Amino acid sequence: RIAYLNGDFVPLGEARVSVLDRGFLFADGIYEVSAVLDGKLIDNDSHLARLERSVGEISLALPVSLPRLVEIQRELIARNGLADGVVYIQVTRGVADRDFHFPEGATPTLFLFTQAKNIIESPAAKTGVAVKLVPDLRWGRCDIKSVALLAQVLAKQAAHEAGCAEAWMTRDGFVTEGGSSTAFIVTADGTVVTRPNSTAILPGCTRKALLALAAEGSIRLEERAFSVDEAFAASEAFMTSASSFVYPIVTIDGRPVGTGQPGPVATRLRELYIAFARATAV
Ligand code: PLP
Repeated sequence: RIAYLNGDFVPLGEARVSVLDRGFLFADGIYEVSAVLDGKLIDNDSHLARLERSVGEISLALPVSLPRLVEIQRELIARNGLADGVVYIQVTRGVADRDFHFPEGATPTLFLFTQAKNIIESPAAKTGVAVKLVPDLRWGRCDIKSVALLAQVLAKQAAHEAGCAEAWMTRDGFVTEGGSSTAFIVTADGTVVTRPNSTAILPGCTRKALLALAAEGSIRLEERAFSVDEAFAASEAFMTSASSFVYPIVTIDGRPVGTGQPGPVATRLRELYIAFARATAV
């Protein structure tokens, strides 16, 4: 695989970053992930807008322009012959002797690589996934897509050990979001419920596109926090992310959601999202 690091395309296994990189020492960096279908980027403008916002929120300047970033993404897709998968972007505050405050004159580190994944034919989309509830241990700015992911690593490891594909993080009896996905439930009357954007969650790009598709498809929507009890009582649940699109959730902490099978609303929204992705891929 070929990666991009600070201006050069290099074999992934040979890409090297200094141990003094602030990404390594402080997790002082931001990342972004865009899906690729048939060699084309999905909803990429939305991801790059979020990247721009995230770096701005930590006073970090992107070392290249957004149009140049898209060129690098495209060149990586081409060089890797990537048909389906994701392009990962990471930018950190660069290399400097260890001190907490921002270094003067450091050049941000920019790293991109690709991962192949068949998002459309994913078995999880057909069977649905199991979710484990864990306490949300994260900080107060979950809207920033920071590379500081220790809380999510621990959450998703606990889920993995319980045989679950995703962790749903909870705070004060309410679900915030998935370890790396947005959380949704469908109530008995068919209303799709998801938490409103705030500093408590990452504003999902897939979430945003899906809410627009649901509105166009005359699906009832409520943007409000939902409780763990509501999740247990829901007729359906599902998760969204760039690397999964929409996955139905069939169990929460081992309890079946609704029938315990992927539900009709999640299935329809997945189809709508796939149609949107194919129609807008560039
Ligand atoms: N929430 C968290 C914490 C995430 O890490 C992610 C994606 O990785 C999402 C939500 C979903 O965001 P998106 O749909 O933009 O991939």
